[in-house]
Amino acid sequence: MDSEIIDNLRDIAGAEFVSTREDVLLAYSSSASMGIDPVQPGAVVRPSNADEVAAILRIADEHGIPVTIRAGGTSLQGEVTPKADGLVVELMRLNKIELFKDLRTVRVGAGVTFGELDKFLSEHDLWLPVSPESALACTVAGNVAVNGSGPGSSFAGCIGELVMGLEIVLPNSQVIQTGSEANPNAPGPFLRYAFGPDITGIFIGSLGSLGVITSVSVKVFKRMEHFDYNTYGFDSHEQAEKFLVELKDNDVNMLMASLYEGPTLEFFMDMVGEEFGIPPMEWPHRTVSMTIGRVRKDVLESDAKLAREICEKMGGRVIGIVELPKGEWDGRFWTFVRCSYVHPWAWQVVYHHQAPTNVHRSVEEITKIMDKYAFLGHTAGFASGHSSMNMYPQFYWDPVDEEERKKVVGALKELAGNLYKAGAVPFKLASYWDGLMEGTETYMELLRRLKETIDPNGIMNKGVLGGI
Ligand SMILES: Cc1cc2nc3c(=O)[nH]c(=O)nc-3n(C[C@H](O)[C@H](O)[C@H](O)COP(=O)(O)OP(=O)(O)OC[C@H]3O[C@@H](n4cnc5c(N)ncnc54)[C@H](O)[C@@H]3O)c2cc1C
Repeated sequence: MDSEIIDNLRDIAGAEFVSTREDVLLAYSSSASMGIDPVQPGAVVRPSNADEVAAILRIADEHGIPVTIRAGGTSLQGEVTPKADGLVVELMRLNKIELFKDLRTVRVGAGVTFGELDKFLSEHDLWLPVSPESALACTVAGNVAVNGSGPGSSFAGCIGELVMGLEIVLPNSQVIQTGSEANPNAPGPFLRYAFGPDITGIFIGSLGSLGVITSVSVKVFKRMEHFDYNTYGFDSHEQAEKFLVELKDNDVNMLMASLYEGPTLEFFMDMVGEEFGIPPMEWPHRTVSMTIGRVRKDVLESDAKLAREICEKMGGRVIGIVELPKGEWDGRFWTFVRCSYVHPWAWQVVYHHQAPTNVHRSVEEITKIMDKYAFLGHTAGFASGHSSMNMYPQFYWDPVDEEERKKVVGALKELAGNLYKAGAVPFKLASYWDGLMEGTETYMELLRRLKETIDPNGIMNKGVLGGI
């Protein structure tokens, strides 16, 4: 990168926060995403506030330098891979947390991780009821940029549903604030839909391709202290689906309700069963592993009783193994994700959302691809919000086997196409969905025009958002 530009960046962020060192660039050339070729940027800059971000974008825009916004670097689909000789803007120094206790909202800088926020909120008897499995390293703003979902989402939905407002630096270096905080006289974030159409939403899930989210205001809730963990077995998929629908209808407060097919659970239990203290067993055709949570103990007990009754009414049986949901919830799923790392495998995931009544179609399509290519993999998913299942099928390969890697990457695209035909929608509009989403042409065209309007010089993460 041009040395004059580097000097300008050093003037803005401070010399120690701009690097062109080979080893640093190497560290930023890849992320937690596996099977994606690393790309070396030209420089990395680490600003500490929105004004510095704005000044950096002004330079990048003037010179047409491609910009990749990076937070925790934990994304799994290559969204944070830089462009060759481009600029990485890393946001971890924006680490301020401001609580608005009476409004039950909190405003966090773009570098605040879920782990840091949870530690802070626990001191105030509050929590943010969505946390991804990567909670210790992933930032709240980074999760908003992908509209993430995770443990807690069975109750609260994707993270976007908790957002009250954003501060955003646009590629032309203008700073906008959305939600009630746009009024400088407002006492804090108290309403998202404050000034007509929802501009906040345009940036949720935008994968760093429209602007830089420098702070996020989110809803927080009284911390739950009472939990019920249980497993429920079903002989047919329909029974399991109906069970989940009835639970919602009866306002049973599931925080994490995972739906597994038998072979998927056997696959996971091979890896963590002993550690969880779960005896080897033949898992039923479908298992729902569920954590219910409530602030009040008596309400929790009533929910737990109701869940058991509904299970039996649907023709299922209460398995009674509590270690599985407890392990999922207490470990915030990290335990299962760790399965993917303890073995020397590489893997990729085709995140998608599916209607709860249609999950069997996703399972069919995933299984077909696993059988066709003889891949090792699984079909797991969890309830995510009002009416969706968040599916995260993974395929594994031996990291030294380049042919197998290519096969998996090709198969992901094939699977995404088949899933779309089976009624699924993208969870994170990663570029492999590009060209597969028949019927969305006018929607995607509008998105393309929005991108051109907001980022006319195309500097922000080009090609990442569904190929835009
Ligand atoms: C072990 C593991 C478990 C995971 N579990 C989950 C899970 O349960 N749920 C889930 O949703 N995801 C999960 N993920 C994926 C990943 O953690 C999420 O995608 C996460 O939201 C990324 O956040 P980050 O801070 O690491 O952002 P990065 O990976 O640095 O960036 C992600 C994307 O957002 C953009 N971006 C980041 N910050 C900003 C910002 N402030 N403004 C504008 N754009 C920005 C980047 O350009 C990039 O496109 C998991 C990943 C791992 C490794």
